[in-house]
Amino acid sequence: MTTFYPGPSKVYPQVATYLQDAMNEGILSQNHRSKAFMEMLEVCILVFKQKKNIPDDYEVYFTSSATECWEIISQSLVRHHSHHVFNGAFGEKWFEYASRLSKETSATNFDFQEKISESLSTDADVWCFTQNETSNATQIEFSFFNKLNSEALIAVDVTSSLGGIELDWKSGDIWLASVQKCLGLPAGMGVMICSPKAIKRAEEIGERNHYNSLLFIRDNFKKFQTHYTPNILGIYLLMRVMQQVPDIQAIDTHIKSRAKDFYRFIAQETTLDLLITNEEVRSETVIAIKGTVDEISVLKQKAKENNIILGNGYGAWKDTTFRIANFPAIEDWEFDKLKTLLRQ
Ligand SMILES: *Cc1c(COP(=O)(O)O)cnc(C)c1O
Repeated sequence: MTTFYPGPSKVYPQVATYLQDAMNEGILSQNHRSKAFMEMLEVCILVFKQKKNIPDDYEVYFTSSATECWEIISQSLVRHHSHHVFNGAFGEKWFEYASRLSKETSATNFDFQEKISESLSTDADVWCFTQNETSNATQIEFSFFNKLNSEALIAVDVTSSLGGIELDWKSGDIWLASVQKCLGLPAGMGVMICSPKAIKRAEEIGERNHYNSLLFIRDNFKKFQTHYTPNILGIYLLMRVMQQVPDIQAIDTHIKSRAKDFYRFIAQETTLDLLITNEEVRSETVIAIKGTVDEISVLKQKAKENNIILGNGYGAWKDTTFRIANFPAIEDWEFDKLKTLLRQ
């Protein structure tokens, strides 16, 4: 079976071996304050930072999900007001969740076929962006975050791009994701990466009311421990996959050229259309393809017969689009198989 679903998505095939190794090594039966666990957490963070080219002074924490990271930001990093800029379902959901927690929230909803406006301004102390909007297959360029030049913290959801393309870490303060999309791992863990500016803000606010208050998470991670019994298997698998994958620069080159090729393929070699007509805002890790209701339903049936799973279109686009994850765990031969199907 070949799956192009954008989350949960294809897991690296090597995970089968790592699962067995985890059993054999006995790490799953270890206490999470044991030396064996703490050493593993340390290695995992080290290799994750190396392979993803994360600046030394940025800190990495593991949580249960990207959604949890949204809440941690509202609890522990927003002083008064968070401003949410989005063009799709995930950004909007983040805004809704934050609205229940933060004192004040506001939003700018921009057209998903248009580039994000460079003249945004707000009094908020945290900006929230969804860099790769998984629901409509658009992305924001990292140069945009640099241009904001703001005193406020910049929080960026990179759930469906972290692991696939190189991120400009210095352009933001809080980066969040979960592991079941572009990182090619089984679901059940989130990642949060914080700049020194974000950590300083957390210290100034001093919020410690929750089990997942950022300062409490950080106190534990400083000792390579966690604030609750963590997903030990998830951490182990992340460590092994990070040891296996090439540096992000190499993955980035491959993913971007595959995206370019696939976009060209859809436009030139099939009768289908691309949902995103503006090339400048097209995502490189999630691709949305449009057709008539009949075309899409026939294609889905054919895909099924060929053991290929296409990602359903999101929300209102369910019957007229499908999505293709261009994630690194998916191999080139699988894309060739998909092309053969779509050419027919
Ligand atoms: C999938 C997704 C989420 C939610 O991830 P969970 O792991 O379910 O919390 C958040 N943001 C984006 C952009 C996503 O694609």
